[in-house]
Amino acid sequence: MRSALICGGGVAGLSSALHLRKHGWEVKLFEKDSELRTAGVGLNIWPNGVRVLKGLGLGEEFLSFAAAMNRWWALDSDGTMTSDIDVSDWSEQLGAPITGARRRRLNTMLAEALGYEEIRFNTAVESYEQNEDSVTVYFANGGSATGDLLLGADGVGSKIRNHMLGGVPEFTEDGITRWRGVFETAKADVPPDVQADVYGPNGHFGWIPIDATHAYWYGSLGGLSTFDEFYSVYSTWAETPVPTIIDVSEPETIIGRELAHYKNHLNSWADGRVILLGDSAHPMYPGMAQGANQALIDGQVLAEQLDAHDSVPEALKAFEAQRMHEAHTMVEYSRLHFSWEKTRDEYRSAGSNLQIDRYMEFEA
Ligand SMILES: Cc1cc2nc3c(=O)[nH]c(=O)nc-3n(C[C@H](O)[C@H](O)[C@H](O)COP(=O)(O)OP(=O)(O)OC[C@H]3O[C@@H](n4cnc5c(N)ncnc54)[C@H](O)[C@@H]3O)c2cc1C
Repeated sequence: MRSALICGGGVAGLSSALHLRKHGWEVKLFEKDSELRTAGVGLNIWPNGVRVLKGLGLGEEFLSFAAAMNRWWALDSDGTMTSDIDVSDWSEQLGAPITGARRRRLNTMLAEALGYEEIRFNTAVESYEQNEDSVTVYFANGGSATGDLLLGADGVGSKIRNHMLGGVPEFTEDGITRWRGVFETAKADVPPDVQADVYGPNGHFGWIPIDATHAYWYGSLGGLSTFDEFYSVYSTWAETPVPTIIDVSEPETIIGRELAHYKNHLNSWADGRVILLGDSAHPMYPGMAQGANQALIDGQVLAEQLDAHDSVPEALKAFEAQRMHEAHTMVEYSRLHFSWEKTRDEYRSAGSNLQIDRYMEFEA
């Protein structure tokens, strides 16, 4: 049986492990932390991601805890509704709904499906070596493991990527803080089946239901900010639900994190028997809310290409060729949504939801 070494226990690593095992691979997953990553609050999982979960036989379980959206509003910070899109028929139209879920629930579901005994926690990968027949990964604690294939699913700070490139790639210097929190939809008087974005002169704020009673919100100013700076702007958007949403949030859930992506796309994700996927290959701003969805698709396509080719290096090249255009376009579209003034003007004049329009290019 062919064996895969998977570095990283996030969405990319866990879902790839499930895909590969389904296609007959023996998998070993190495995670640097002592437990699964749970930070990050919530995720929008779009039809393209839900379809992958369905393919893994996890669709029903996922939809039992995720919130499925019926409408998507876009508002201006002056309170004007610039678009109100009915997304309730996406299940029929696209084979799956657009959903929101807690990251912790998604990762736990994937890990339970894999089996915790397949995950070696407290194991940070450092580097690798390969020859024609196998690849060996080395751990920070001095150990190693050898297999037929190595996946660098170790996120935006990827050690596998650094080893592959011979250094750290250049990141954008924008330095944007994304603030997030969780609230009860009833307390903010917003519907539990509607996700929404609000565009204003100095920033963008949105919220996404993540279960039957709660939603998570996110927002940024143009640069790094403290919570007080962030609040001083958003608390003035009084014609929208935004100030109430922040005020009724569960205080312990409010976190800020600096966002990052590469200055230039990586022009290769593959090196012989080693492949990058998920955020190590294509980190993106959450402007399209597609990073985890793209990671889910990566795992599926990778397993399909490994089935289609006898040679691992050829399969990895074919994977790269199939995935790069969509993933890199999502990186660029995500960044466009962080130009607040421009996006606000576009939403006002287009009267449509640009995030949906851009996503639909890949459903055609
Ligand atoms: C604020 C914010 C909001 C977002 N919202 C959305 C959204 O709504 N929808 C969406 O689709 N995406 C969203 N994303 C993007 C999404 O979170 C990422 O694209 C996704 O988590 C990538 O998964 P990953 O498995 O590649 O990386 P990660 O989730 O970062 O997982 C990497 C894993 O590798 C482990 N690791 C790191 N280094 C090592 C090492 N040396 N050895 C072993 N293990 C290691 C880490 O501990 C971690 O468990 C958002 C991102 C942010 C920041």
